[in-house]
Amino acid sequence: MSDLLKRKAEATPRGVGVMCEFFADHAKNAEIWDTAGKRYIDFAGGIGVLNTGHLHPKVQAAVSAQLQKFSHTCYQVIPYESYVSLAEKLNRKSPGSHAKKTAFFSTGAEAVENAVKIARAATGRPAIIAFGSAFHGRSMLTMALTGKVVPYKVGFGPFPGDIYHAPFPNETHGTSTADALAGIEKLFKYDVEPSRVAAIIFEPVQGEGGFVPAPADFVRGLRAICDQHGILLIADEVQAGFARTGKLFAMEHYDVLPDLTTLAKSLAGGFPLSAVVGRAEIMDAPMPGGLGGTYAGHPLALAAAEAVLDVIEEEHLVERSQKLGALLQEKLRSLKSVIPQIADVRGPGSMVAVEFMKPGTHEPDAAFTKKVQAEALKRGLLLLTCGTYYNVVRFLYPLTIEDAVFEEALGILEASLKA
Ligand code: PMP
Repeated sequence: MSDLLKRKAEATPRGVGVMCEFFADHAKNAEIWDTAGKRYIDFAGGIGVLNTGHLHPKVQAAVSAQLQKFSHTCYQVIPYESYVSLAEKLNRKSPGSHAKKTAFFSTGAEAVENAVKIARAATGRPAIIAFGSAFHGRSMLTMALTGKVVPYKVGFGPFPGDIYHAPFPNETHGTSTADALAGIEKLFKYDVEPSRVAAIIFEPVQGEGGFVPAPADFVRGLRAICDQHGILLIADEVQAGFARTGKLFAMEHYDVLPDLTTLAKSLAGGFPLSAVVGRAEIMDAPMPGGLGGTYAGHPLALAAAEAVLDVIEEEHLVERSQKLGALLQEKLRSLKSVIPQIADVRGPGSMVAVEFMKPGTHEPDAAFTKKVQAEALKRGLLLLTCGTYYNVVRFLYPLTIEDAVFEEALGILEASLKA
């Protein structure tokens, strides 16, 4: 064990689980170098934060320029224009032409917490429905919303009340849209009357849960249930947003609109920024002072986000997301005949996943998944896993990745699958 690893083990708790045994030194676009000088191609993107790559020159320049002016005032004390102009931009670009407002925070969990606060204030109702295998964060409320016990909930209860889980549709694992929607009706029978439900929160593509896209008829069904009972629909796009799915917003894949949307991760290209975008009248429900935070809408992160949105447009990253995702899926599908563990290849745009089962069975193969990840890491490719059964590899490469680096990564992926 390196000296630094020993110091890490002594100085920091094991609860902060760490994937790599090396330490980061510097990075550029889709490549990162460790302190020993070894280079890796980064298909993890700091868990979906780097759709515009490490230190995009435009993002770097925008942050540097802001750093020459001021780094902090607390927006609630002295406001700044960048907060207002990014809100205007997100209100304009997010799905739906209705009047919207945006509030900024720092983390994904904070955005989700605040979406729930806003929904409760707007409806005067307490209950929230979330889904099995969902991930919404690690704070007390978002952990309760998260639909996975190990490792997120173990030892941390009791959890906030009035949170209910219904099954999420996942055809690969035998849950249909009808099953999932029936699950909500069962909650209304067994656990909570619909008139007490403030919101239903869902991920348009479940992230940590295995890159599972919500079927269109399911999302339509959610909207119908919400409309019938005066419930608000929250789309958690923290992982799926900002061109990852081949649209700027994941909800653009559907013909229904959410009432509130949570955004974070790739919004600010590596700087901590999150947002809740929603119908203006709903967003205005909490009283003045009810929303905010010392660092919420940090000026450096806002400057980064403004640049990120420009880069997505100027470098046509929505189209590039579709193109790269199609190439990756084609590669994975072509390997199906030689890698019998490949059970499913899926995902919109570049929110691509490959799911592994033991050959000839319907049994998730977590061991094989882990092995592929380890083989890739050895060969200099960072991959992340996900899924309720730990048997999915997900791909979160920068959409700005150079063609040659992408090609090289696909070669490493193939070698790692065959190893
Ligand atoms: N929602 C979703 C869909 C996520 O993927 C995540 C993070 N993986 C979160 C919320 C929480 O974000 P954060 O870690 O920034 O709090």
